[in-house]
Amino acid sequence: MNIVTKVYKPEFEKCPVCGSKLAYRYTVSNKVIQFSSGHKSRIKNLGYSCTNQDCKASDVIFTSQTASKFCIKGYTYSAKVISLITILKMEGYSREKICAELALLGVEISDRNIDNIFEREKSLLNADYKKNIETEYDFMYSHYGQIRISIDSLTIKGKRFVSIRDSFHNHQLGLHIFDENDTENLKKLLHEYVDDPRVKSITTVRKFTDFFKILEEVVARDMEYIYFIKY
Ligand SMILES: [Zn+2]
Repeated sequence: MNIVTKVYKPEFEKCPVCGSKLAYRYTVSNKVIQFSSGHKSRIKNLGYSCTNQDCKASDVIFTSQTASKFCIKGYTYSAKVISLITILKMEGYSREKICAELALLGVEISDRNIDNIFEREKSLLNADYKKNIETEYDFMYSHYGQIRISIDSLTIKGKRFVSIRDSFHNHQLGLHIFDENDTENLKKLLHEYVDDPRVKSITTVRKFTDFFKILEEVVARDMEYIYFIKY
């Protein structure tokens, strides 16, 4: 099978803290990812850093948030495949049945990986995100004088998965599931992440999506938006 290689670098060219040029340092990840469409791609995520040695962020390796959002550490499946596994598990499907469902889509996966993925997702869903927001926001602000986050929303089988990460170190702050049409609770949650006036930048999906409209309404102030490159 022919596997296409896609190369990603950070969505911005200049250091978000001091404005100096970023330079390539090393390849942060390079692996073959299986997508829910059944196709596979090799994703290379290139790491860049600030060229100004006096910059507070000089030791930060910036990567593409587009690539990071589907290259989940330790796994070789897209975020959509992982979300699908999570939903099926929550609906009580056996792992054998999930393997069979995924095989129909052309995705190869072992029983054990299904359990591992679900365990990891469950722990993210149950994590104390309020505490993560507090700790990670204070850390970002004290180190870089600003807070940058990425918010990713994907919908599958009537559910919306919302994943929030910090943009400096790509730590996951929270993972949340809503019914696809439950805008009210989605807005409540987004407020918890964006109301802090120190949040300066949000990396997210492009303007023309429904999700962006909701996000923009919740933010309702000046905000720097950086868009995920559509895969
Ligand atoms: Zn810098």
